[in-house]
Amino acid sequence: MLTTVDAFDRIGEENAFAVLARATALVAEGRDIINLGIGQPDFRTPEHIVEAAIKALQDGHHGYTPSVGILPLREAVAHDLNRRYGVEVDPGLVMIVPGGKVTMYAAIRLFGEPGAEILYPDPGFPIYRSMIEHTGATPVPVPIREENGFAFSAEETLGLITPSTRLLIINSPANPTGGVTPKAEIDKLVKGLAAYPHVALMSDEIYDHFVFDGEKHQTLLAYPEIRDRLIILNGWSKTYAMTGWRLGYSIWPKRLYESVRKLSVNAWSCVNAATQYAGIAALDGPHDAVEAMVAEFDRRRHLVVEGLNALPGVSCATPRGAFYAFPNVQGTGWGSAKKLASALLEEAGVAVIGGPDFGVHGEGYLRLSYANSAENIRRALERMGAFLERRAAA
Ligand code: PLP
Repeated sequence: MLTTVDAFDRIGEENAFAVLARATALVAEGRDIINLGIGQPDFRTPEHIVEAAIKALQDGHHGYTPSVGILPLREAVAHDLNRRYGVEVDPGLVMIVPGGKVTMYAAIRLFGEPGAEILYPDPGFPIYRSMIEHTGATPVPVPIREENGFAFSAEETLGLITPSTRLLIINSPANPTGGVTPKAEIDKLVKGLAAYPHVALMSDEIYDHFVFDGEKHQTLLAYPEIRDRLIILNGWSKTYAMTGWRLGYSIWPKRLYESVRKLSVNAWSCVNAATQYAGIAALDGPHDAVEAMVAEFDRRRHLVVEGLNALPGVSCATPRGAFYAFPNVQGTGWGSAKKLASALLEEAGVAVIGGPDFGVHGEGYLRLSYANSAENIRRALERMGAFLERRAAA
């Protein structure tokens, strides 16, 4: 039988899920594991959102919806973006999708083919590279550097563009580093892109509510000069603690919308109806639970960074966004961050992710998600400290 085995062999994975599976297996064996591996809020979805989904089911919303999502939800997305950023968004260009990853998939499928180059952040969300490779396009990593505050450099990014570049993926606030790219750098990038009209842009803004120190997220929607080639990826997973609901949205340029609408009909039909009603309640309802969650992440952020900086051989810059810390562990004597992560799980009972799982430029770092209680974070740091004292230079 002939299959496109090569294309499927090229699909990678998200190691955070493998670490989660291993941590779960260890717990089943009776081990006490503290999980700082997976990137999902340790909060329940706010009650009024859950109630909206229950009501939608009771009201009989059991059937297919338009494949691009119900209009009131697309209007709520446009309204929310207008309220928060003062930008105008046409609900006719909003697409409701089953989770943030689906926008990534659609955008990379649209532009990826053999011979095409796609730029993506490294270290960055691993699915970018995996999907680029699946399409046969050439993945071109844009290095994200600690000395640059884990922001991307506009100059370095623009310098990597060639006539074959089709798509540039950016992500701020960023997974796995917590880096936030300053507005001045984004201004510079947008200005520079004027010289490369053949390059489309996908801005992954899924952590846009998670920006600390009184700063404001800089959305790429604020630049009218690139709106005709800008794809926005966002969703409910992180902001509303809804990772398992599978609800995301994208905003597309007019010329691409119809292609992705056709893909939606072919691939997922629509997001389940009750979830879409919950999405409206999330956007239009009270945001005090979101604010409380972000404030709690902010407190934990300081706890994690202080604790990490007290560990032997570890230094950690203060992340400015998302809910991850990305400590530099080069001073521990462990040459391989993945081996260190694995030993921490097996021997110290702390699940973290090795930096190289986010790209080659992640070597020498670990990713810790602080989506866990302050108490567990303290215990995890104690365990890591004791482990590093014991196994200084393995
Ligand atoms: N983009 C980034 C940067 C992420 O970190 C994640 C999830 O961890 C996603 C997208 C995917 O979000 P979803 O779970 O809604 O598919």
